[in-house]
Amino acid sequence: MANLKTRKVICSVCNGNGFVRVPYEQVREEQWADCDFCNNQGEIEEEVDEDVDRQRKPS
Ligand SMILES: [Zn+2]
Repeated sequence: MANLKTRKVICSVCNGNGFVRVPYEQVREEQWADCDFCNNQGEIEEEVDEDVDRQRKPS
C-alpha cells in the first residue's frame, strides 16, 4: 500500500519567482507573466512515495 505524502519544491519553470519572462519576440517589450506551472506560487507540491524511498535503500 502506497504511503503518499506531498512536499513543497521550488518551481523549476520560474525558479521560485512565481512569474516568468515573456519572450521579447512575442510582445516587443519587457513583460512578465504569472507562472502557470505553479500558479505563481513559486513552489509546487510534489507527491512523495515513502515506500519507494524505502525500497531504494540497500538492505
Ligand atoms: Zn512557477
